Amino acid sequence: MSEQTIALVTGANKGIGYEIAAGLGALGTTVGIGARDPRRGEEAAAKLRADGVDAFFVPLDVTDDESVASAAALVEERFGRLDVLVNNAGIAGEWPTAPSAATPAVLGKVLDTNVIGVVRVTNAMVPLLRRSARPRIVNQSSHLSSLTLQTSPEVDFGDVDGVYMPSKTFLNAVTVQYAKELTGIKINACCPGYVATDFNGFQGHETPADGAKIAVRLATLDDDGPTGGLFDNAGTVPW
Ligand code: NAP
Repeated sequence: MSEQTIALVTGANKGIGYEIAAGLGALGTTVGIGARDPRRGEEAAAKLRADGVDAFFVPLDVTDDESVASAAALVEERFGRLDVLVNNAGIAGEWPTAPSAATPAVLGKVLDTNVIGVVRVTNAMVPLLRRSARPRIVNQSSHLSSLTLQTSPEVDFGDVDGVYMPSKTFLNAVTVQYAKELTGIKINACCPGYVATDFNGFQGHETPADGAKIAVRLATLDDDGPTGGLFDNAGTVPW
């Protein structure tokens, strides 16, 4: 019998993260529900368990060093390793913020979650991922991150934003560098589409379950799958 797969999804108490956890759970994966609020996290894990998913709550605020260290300790104590890390937690800041209106406070808050938070969690989990036979990391990016799309005359994202969009571009850059360093661990970034969640006042036109599909696919890549790329459901997205 093959070994149980252990995953951790950050920001999994709602939205796309919850559906990534559900999608991985439906494949038989044991899923840590990373959430910064204990009540929201416990409720999400309980709901997933009621649906047959082997889910457990992991207290995890990606902006807090101690919280991240405790989450790694919890996973280590319980399983001794981690197979899949999905860095999904993210914030929009005061979307949209024109570059000339971006304050260090707003920029710092968004970067601390969307970029530094990913680095904080990843670095805490890499020693556990190194103990996996098939380690995978997925970073939740966005089509809005793509400099190619941002500068294409064919593409109109509507808003000008100097905070959230650059934070996801930065995340892409970090993903590429991790892929170069962490040989043996597949690490990719993904674009969920425009998904109806709290994030955008439920304006998105895709369901969270559809938005979760690409992350689930990248989290379960075969050994001959890609690393260091940006993908959506249709395939490769240009940086
Ligand atoms: P969401 O429903 O607002 O969910 C965001 C999740 O991140 C929540 O669980 C939230 O927890 C969590 N989170 C925020 N800050 C956190 C922190 N410091 N520590 C731990 N968890 C934190 O939004 P979503 O649409 O599902 O977004 C998920 C990811 O997809 C984000 O990275 C976002 O940038 C990306 N994305 C979304 C869209 C879209 O159209 N929705 C498009 C492209 C990319 P709380 O419940 O405690 O706030």
